[in-house]
Amino acid sequence: MTDKKVFKFGNGTADGRREMKSLLGGKGANLAEMSAIGLPVPAGFTISTESCHFYGEHGGVWPDGLEEEVRAGVRHLEESLKEGFGDSANPLLVSVRSGAAVSMPGMMDTVLNLGMNDDVAAGLAKRHGGDERFAFDAYRRFIDMFGGVVMGVPHEKFEHAIERVKQESGVDSDVDLNAAQMKAVVDAYKKIYHDHQGESFPTDPWEQLRLSINAVFGSWNSARAIKYRRINHIRGLIGTAVNVQAMVFGDMGDTSGTGVCFTRNPSTGEEELYGEYLINAQGEDVVAGIRTPEDISRLKEEMPGPYDELLRWTRKLEEHYQDMQDIEFTIQEGTLYILQTRSGKRTGTAAVKIAVDMVAEGLVDKRRAVGKLVEPRHLDQLMHPQFKDPTSFKDKIIGQGLPASPGAAVGQVVFTADHAEEAKAVGKQVILVRIETSPDDVGGMDAAQGILTTRGGMTSHAAVVARGWGKPCVAGCGDIVVDYEAGEFRSGKVVVKEGDWIAVDGSTGQVVLGRQELEPPKMGGNFETFMSWVSDFQTMNVRTNADTPPDAARARELGAVGIGLTRTEHMFFEGDRISKMREMIMASTEAERRAALAKLLPFQKEDFIGIFRAMDGYPVTIRLLDPPLHEFLPHEEADQAAMAKSMGLTTAAVKAKVDALDELNPMLGHRGCRLGVTYPEITEMQARAILEAAVELSAEGVTVLPEIMVPLIGTVEEYTDQRDVIKATAEKVFAEKNRRVEYMIGTMIEIPRAALTADEIAKEAEFFSFGTNDLTQMTFGYSRDDAGKFLPQYVDRKILPYDPFQTIDFEGVGKLVKTGTSLGRSVRKDLKVGICGEHGGDPASVRFCYHVGMNYVSCSPFRVPIARLAAAQAALEEEDVKAEKGAVMA
Ligand code: PEP
Ligand code: MG
Repeated sequence: MTDKKVFKFGNGTADGRREMKSLLGGKGANLAEMSAIGLPVPAGFTISTESCHFYGEHGGVWPDGLEEEVRAGVRHLEESLKEGFGDSANPLLVSVRSGAAVSMPGMMDTVLNLGMNDDVAAGLAKRHGGDERFAFDAYRRFIDMFGGVVMGVPHEKFEHAIERVKQESGVDSDVDLNAAQMKAVVDAYKKIYHDHQGESFPTDPWEQLRLSINAVFGSWNSARAIKYRRINHIRGLIGTAVNVQAMVFGDMGDTSGTGVCFTRNPSTGEEELYGEYLINAQGEDVVAGIRTPEDISRLKEEMPGPYDELLRWTRKLEEHYQDMQDIEFTIQEGTLYILQTRSGKRTGTAAVKIAVDMVAEGLVDKRRAVGKLVEPRHLDQLMHPQFKDPTSFKDKIIGQGLPASPGAAVGQVVFTADHAEEAKAVGKQVILVRIETSPDDVGGMDAAQGILTTRGGMTSHAAVVARGWGKPCVAGCGDIVVDYEAGEFRSGKVVVKEGDWIAVDGSTGQVVLGRQELEPPKMGGNFETFMSWVSDFQTMNVRTNADTPPDAARARELGAVGIGLTRTEHMFFEGDRISKMREMIMASTEAERRAALAKLLPFQKEDFIGIFRAMDGYPVTIRLLDPPLHEFLPHEEADQAAMAKSMGLTTAAVKAKVDALDELNPMLGHRGCRLGVTYPEITEMQARAILEAAVELSAEGVTVLPEIMVPLIGTVEEYTDQRDVIKATAEKVFAEKNRRVEYMIGTMIEIPRAALTADEIAKEAEFFSFGTNDLTQMTFGYSRDDAGKFLPQYVDRKILPYDPFQTIDFEGVGKLVKTGTSLGRSVRKDLKVGICGEHGGDPASVRFCYHVGMNYVSCSPFRVPIARLAAAQAALEEEDVKAEKGAVMA
């Protein structure tokens, strides 16, 4: 145990520093740091976490020497404030707070105004110009907090008592109570304390302090705190620190005040002091909204001295912390105190502007700007339209679903894809509302401004397609009940009819009534500058999931260096391709199937030509057909009849086929490579389309790097079966064209068995791409499409820490990914490994992939910048960790 147990701060010096979090807790280390760099922080001291640990281990006994050090700490406060602890003529009051190395609710809250008793209250009033109301107000707050937080008197008892006094006095608000009435509150509180504890509350300030410190120590091992640490996997901490600090008062008349400010504007990033304050008020009054705070610019006129000082500190703080700061301050009788500083929360626009400006101002370097000043999620906001004023419609939110695809959209409600397309044709803006979507709906999804589904998760059809297009989507919004027949949906008592205006925000999952105002995306300028710096630090590549040439081109603009997944099935829906696809499915002989496939070939080839061209010089991974065939057939009777008619078949024949393809568990059914194994002619057609396109373009001088990918294998034999078909087809194409191209054949790893036998598979396959959508589905046994029914509850109740379809489950699915990668590379050292599940665009998962040693992650075009920043930050973080280790070793 460290000799020193109490660390003082204040008056421009400190015993501690910000690096000493494990000993001083986060709050204590920060107070020390602020004080050490000269900030006018009210003096105080921090009792070490080791002391807390000792107390816990020794049945509630303080370690030797702590008592003396605490007394010396209080003396330090008395000297710097020129006040005396328990001195009624000139009383020092203190606050006591807990503070572990990680912020941790569940431990003891704050006790303010400690040191109070009848004599002190009287002295306090006298010292403040006879202001008895001020003194009794401080007194009652103390009894409430000490009684409640330290001794466990139920807080409601105090609440009821003050309500009673207000009623008797005929006032509505606490601030309207006069001195006598406030004194009546104090008396009532004393009685409550006595009745609950069976004795009067301790009037000796030292006793108050001792009990409060013990309460903080004890709260470390409270059931709540232990549970919180367990749920949040907080391990390796020994206890909480205790911070004791001199009270300063912003409510000592018109030369006092309190406020909060940001060193730059947190919504635009402009370099200006931004914030608000209240004269003659306590900190909580600013937050409580009882009085309306003034804009910080007025402080310049009201209190020029403290204002100038504050302004000077903001610059100093930004220089020191190398970031925009969010500051809490109090002015006590003309003297400025800084109570807290931390990096300020900001919008995406502000984050990028501040990062770029701070580099230009020489405050930070590019490394820090990329590593710390912008969060990946900030970039999301810049690439999509947003609500102009999200605070304006709090009472109009009618549903909360999953934030499936970011950006805000407004439009009139339609319930079918056809209606969406019709409305778009006449210039209307619509939101397509469906229980869930299917590939049949893509036309309408494309026509809509935004998509809302009431069922399905983050990898549901609607979510995946919308993200791919960068179209706002809220998925799985269970608050809403759709009635297609009635042409309406309900959310509680609200009924929304087809044609009514709604808005959805795919960044937050909110569904809002009415035609809310939007503002356009803000790419360009600062965004481009910032992204160019990101490239400098990015070591892992980011590819994109794209199925069309325009998507591929957009992703390239956003910095993608290849395609990690082309889902070829998406190409079969457009225009009359679907009818050719249906012909293939309806075929009853191989010859018929081949004839239909031959009609599809030119379309596939055309698409590949477009994609290869857009990705000139970059690799393109193309996956063979994956979904079960029934997805390509209509399920409504009228549609089946129409299909039959156009194909010259009977409706009964179509219906029979639909029935035959019907599966109980389509996700585990006849899909993926199982299709190619049973119908090799499909694989042949696709391989031919890919390689013919490649050969023809390479003849034109385009650099094509095709990677043909087999989906959903569980055994190496499934892979080799398909590989042999692809290879044979390739040789035929090369011979016919009298020209060869380099190409690779590899596989998705998306079935647990494939991950577990990856060494066998890597002997044959040239690359792996982890399909973590299916891998998550099959590892947990959660259906991708149905998990929305229970996952939100699982997350709410902390049965799962988060939705594993959004962020990879590090411990389970992640273990399979790690195992698969290392097994694969144990037999093929240079095995190219990537990920193409939706996790490829999730910052925490990207970080995971970086540490697994993947060559790339692949995500929807609009998430490419996010993944790039996450990849760069992962690399920088690793460098920092290595540098720290190096420093320790040296
Ligand atoms: C996956 O399973 O992660 C994947 C990318 O394939 P899909 O989502 O098309 O099944
Ligand atoms: Mg898959």
